[in-house]
Amino acid sequence: EKSALSIIDYSLAYKTANGLIPALQNIDLTIPKGKTVGLVGESGSGKSSMAWSIMRYLPSNAVETGGAIRLAGEELLDYTPYQMMDIRGRRMSMVFQDPSTSLNPTIKLGEQIAEVLMRHRGLTKAQAWAEAEAALGRTGITRPKEMLQRFPHEASGGEKQRVVIATAFACEPELIIFDEPTTALDILTARQILDLFNQLREETNVSALYISHDLGLVSRVVDRVSVIHKGIIVESGSVQEVFRRPKADYTRQLIGAVPDPDRWVGVDAPGEPKTLLRIDKVGVRYGAPTKLQAMFWPTDAETVGFWGAKDISIDVRKGELLGVVGESGSGK
Ligand code: ATP
Ligand code: MG
Repeated sequence: EKSALSIIDYSLAYKTANGLIPALQNIDLTIPKGKTVGLVGESGSGKSSMAWSIMRYLPSNAVETGGAIRLAGEELLDYTPYQMMDIRGRRMSMVFQDPSTSLNPTIKLGEQIAEVLMRHRGLTKAQAWAEAEAALGRTGITRPKEMLQRFPHEASGGEKQRVVIATAFACEPELIIFDEPTTALDILTARQILDLFNQLREETNVSALYISHDLGLVSRVVDRVSVIHKGIIVESGSVQEVFRRPKADYTRQLIGAVPDPDRWVGVDAPGEPKTLLRIDKVGVRYGAPTKLQAMFWPTDAETVGFWGAKDISIDVRKGELLGVVGESGSGK
């Protein structure tokens, strides 16, 4: 069978003041059609570099020192930047850690999805807006029509990531790369995003590379996983093999490094600190335009009347570190 993506003996280095620093060394990685492969490793191990190499979106000081990257058998390293512009978005797309970086802050969410659909699927404006609404609806957003009228800063992190994922899937790409898509989100929202991804990939049969440092999350979505350490893949196999019977010492370390949440709770505050800041029954209501909005953007009538936060009373006491905990969109 043909694979969706095959990376063969691929190496990459960065030119720096200290000379060429290798970032990826002799990488072999295959994503079979319709499967999701995980790429797991600590910060700085080269995961994002791998993603950028596949997308052909490398910084100018990157030097490719050998190998092949093939999308459905086609050698991407031979394509010009101009040819790649047509392939990105249409045949492969990418979802980043921080959804804000994928979105233009000055353009309504609906317009941003519609633009991609018009460009890559040749839809008319009306068709693209209808399709954008349907795509958002499939991601579980409750009022997709209203969400389309919002600007990125009017949506929570989880909502923005749903918009980005909806856009990524809307062009029915062969390959999607997820680079730590839930790292900026709380654990409940992260799970919802993972469930959404699982649902969408069943519906579409997309092939995916799922990058993360979080082994627990990865094991919920991938079929196979590769462990990367200092630019070298130290181990590859099924989730069962790699997580239950790790062969490489480094994999064992990585599994051992998952923090135990029980150790984080139950911090005792000594003494009787005094109140430093008191918030007494404060609410924030969206709809009345903020000064910034009033200056630059007309406020949409449909967004009037949402409570961002309501009846909030909090005492912050001297010398105390107060935690505010809640899922994405809860109003923190
Ligand atoms: P994280 O989990 O923190 O996102 P990562 O695994 O994605 O880390 P990369 O961003 O791929 O890691 O970086 C791999 C190595 O390459 C790091 O040592 C980094 O400092 C280096 N690097 C990345 N981009 C450049 C660049 N443009 N120039 C020089 N070095 C770079
Ligand atoms: Mg990264």
